[in-house]
Amino acid sequence: MRIDTKIVRIDSGMPLEAQLLDAAEIIKSGGLVAFPTETVYGLGADATNSDAAMKIYAAKGRPSDNPLIIHISTPTEAEGYAHTCEVYYRLAREFMPGPLTVILPARESVPRTTRGGLDTVAVRCPENKIASTLIRLSGVPIAAPSANRSGSPSPTSAQHVIDDMTGRVDMIIDGGSCDFGLESTIVSVNPDESVTLLRPGKITAADITALGIEVIIADAVKDRLRDGEIALSPGMKYRHYAPSCEVLLLDAEKEKAADFILNYVKGRGIAKYAVIAYSEDVGFYTGLLTNAYIYNFGEKADEMTQAHSLFDILRRADKEDFSVIFAPLPPAEGIGLALYNRMIRAAAHKIIRL
Ligand code: AMP
Ligand code: MG
Repeated sequence: MRIDTKIVRIDSGMPLEAQLLDAAEIIKSGGLVAFPTETVYGLGADATNSDAAMKIYAAKGRPSDNPLIIHISTPTEAEGYAHTCEVYYRLAREFMPGPLTVILPARESVPRTTRGGLDTVAVRCPENKIASTLIRLSGVPIAAPSANRSGSPSPTSAQHVIDDMTGRVDMIIDGGSCDFGLESTIVSVNPDESVTLLRPGKITAADITALGIEVIIADAVKDRLRDGEIALSPGMKYRHYAPSCEVLLLDAEKEKAADFILNYVKGRGIAKYAVIAYSEDVGFYTGLLTNAYIYNFGEKADEMTQAHSLFDILRRADKEDFSVIFAPLPPAEGIGLALYNRMIRAAAHKIIRL
């Protein structure tokens, strides 16, 4: 069923509250509102309303065993929906509001639909003012996965959401492009007070270790799940963020990478292909790979720009009919680990080490 989607552009010169009243009414009455956060755009509904949560799965085309993150406006609101603990508050004091999601044992106030049938619930307190004001005005926690159709990259601009969700949601709030551009860091808290990193993001393992909390990195962050292995986070088992064409990650100096690319496209008679290149290498590739489409990924040392650009590049590339996209393999540490995690999925784990 197609619904009428209202697109609302936020005017930064006007008070936010007045501009978000209609959106809050939609959430309260069980509708869907897409809104910006500091990570990516979210597709929001009342987390305490099972029918509303069902609408999220339908709009995204998302399997209903892949649970939703609930968004709150202050860390203590988690008390109503989860069994919190000391580690939660140590994390919250340092990183909330901000791009960190914590998995905790759920209270019955969160319907099983929202939790994808699990006994736990994922809690996040976003920093983005549009997001936090909308949650506060709605008076309920907002369940919000990324506002993309299942299987395409998370949206980092209102246009990405408009492309994916027009006719499927009641409202899209255009608040400009997202600051960070990759989804939140997700950790679960273990009985021994260590945490397991399930999804890397802007808040790094080192940031959490610095609080004196031990961080275990789940195998699936860097590798694919082995046959028969149970996913600690249901999202790990689904193919994610993948363009329709082949993506190859090259772990190599630019000279060797260019040789490989030339041989690869020549050997296969490929006419249309793309290279995602660090700014300092753009000139080199443009000179050598005369018929390649080159995307500028930002400087090699500037992981914030790369995080900000990645999903937009993948979406733009998906609109072309490239046979293959070549991209550099990021270092698997710090914020690089968040890029690495998204890029090995986009590449279906195809890494070429030269
Ligand atoms: P998205 O909302 O698109 O950023 O995806 C949310 C991610 O959070 C998915 O990968 C889920 O698997 C994960 N998630 C949500 N709730 C839980 C939970 N209770 N336990 C483990 N992972 C969760
Ligand atoms: Mg998602």
